Amino acid sequence: MDIAVVGTGYVGLVTGTCLAETGCRVICVDTDIKKLDLLKNGIIPIYEPGLEPLFKRAFSQKRLSFTSKLDEAASFAQIIFLALPTPPKESGAADLSRVLSVSENLAQNIKTKKIIVNKSTVPVGTTMQAQKIFKKYGSPSVVVSNPEFLREGFAVEDFMKPDRIVVGTTDSEAREILERLYQPFVRQGNPIYFMSEESAELTKYAANSFLAMKISFMNEMARMAEKCGADIDDVRLAVGADERIGRRFLFPGIGFGGSCLPKDVQAITHMGRELGTPLRLAEAILEVNKTQIEFFLQKILSHFGNNISGRKFAIWGLSFKPDTDDVREAPALKVLEFLRKHNSSFAAFDPEAFQNAKNEFPELVEMIDMYETLKGADGLIICTEWSHFRNPDFNLIKKNLKCPVVFDGRNLYRPEFMKPMGFTYYSVGRP
Ligand code: NAD
Repeated sequence: MDIAVVGTGYVGLVTGTCLAETGCRVICVDTDIKKLDLLKNGIIPIYEPGLEPLFKRAFSQKRLSFTSKLDEAASFAQIIFLALPTPPKESGAADLSRVLSVSENLAQNIKTKKIIVNKSTVPVGTTMQAQKIFKKYGSPSVVVSNPEFLREGFAVEDFMKPDRIVVGTTDSEAREILERLYQPFVRQGNPIYFMSEESAELTKYAANSFLAMKISFMNEMARMAEKCGADIDDVRLAVGADERIGRRFLFPGIGFGGSCLPKDVQAITHMGRELGTPLRLAEAILEVNKTQIEFFLQKILSHFGNNISGRKFAIWGLSFKPDTDDVREAPALKVLEFLRKHNSSFAAFDPEAFQNAKNEFPELVEMIDMYETLKGADGLIICTEWSHFRNPDFNLIKKNLKCPVVFDGRNLYRPEFMKPMGFTYYSVGRP
């Protein structure tokens, strides 16, 4: 099948590459000329484990190509995926301008029936809104909702072997074509759920809100544990052993970030208000998340007698989670902002996300070695649980730090181990 993918970010590039892996010819469209230059030269502009071999194979065998010309891609393809950003507006609502303007552009130019598959996370009603645009221009194309559930860091794995695929359409031809397109990915029997466009759109928000709720819930429990002398790690393990609850997404920390959970919970909250069904739970998820980092930062301030002006800190981890270079809404950036506001300086290490963070904090100086960041620092702050940080050389940490204090926002170490090593150790929800 001939495919176009509009938007070559974390979702679009993975979608295009994985579809090309199954033999489809894929042309990816983007407006970012710098990104396109890299891609056209066979260079992947993002860090995503497992993407490179697939990309290189499809690219060298000419099943994957790139263009800035939407009309060229649209006339080539039978199926056109939209993987465009839907960032939050000031109000919290999802900004649909890119999805709708690309739809408008396609609708004006496509005169034969194409399947437009929207992978962007969009509020309920957007697919039908886009469909109306095609009708307005007399285009016979059909717009389908196909929310994406991949996780950055596991995007290729998730796309190749999805837990489920959700397709929102009432068009039988679109259903049949997508069923065929996705067959190679569901050979083990994982389901493709067909439903209405509205149900598909809501499924995505419901899934992300639920995941965010698990995190905020455990973060709130962690605060409680700190007050009452419990150990959140013990609580987490015992609670997660209940199959109805499950072990995953129960780790307390310094709040969730990334390009999806914060914006999607905001968007569904906004949708709820608009529809006259306020979503109290979703509002609380956001509130807990916003304050979780503040609790952590307060520990840093309190340790230094509420004055960190002139202090220097080492930061380990800048990405919003491990195995990605994505720093959108990363808690680490909030930590840097806080240090900057309090006139502290910092040196940071991240295996992949440094350059993206430096775009927002130009004062960052690249450190090749994570132990270099510690030299002359008044404390170490851990913001991302990269596996490199799990078993470090503690003696070297102590030797390099000016004061042996560690603020661990990801509970990487055991307090009973850190104390005898001579560290003052702060973590989340533990005695
Ligand atoms: P991204 O920002 O990484 O990539 C979007 C790409 O679209 C960029 O390369 C940008 O240059 C390009 N673009 C912007 N306007 C364009 C236009 N008019 N024409 C062509 N290209 C254009 O975004 P992403 O993280 O891939 O997310 C895309 C959508 O998928 C969002 O709605 C997001 O919520 C959703 N989603 C993301 C993830 C994830 O983990 N990142 C997971 C599931 C769903």
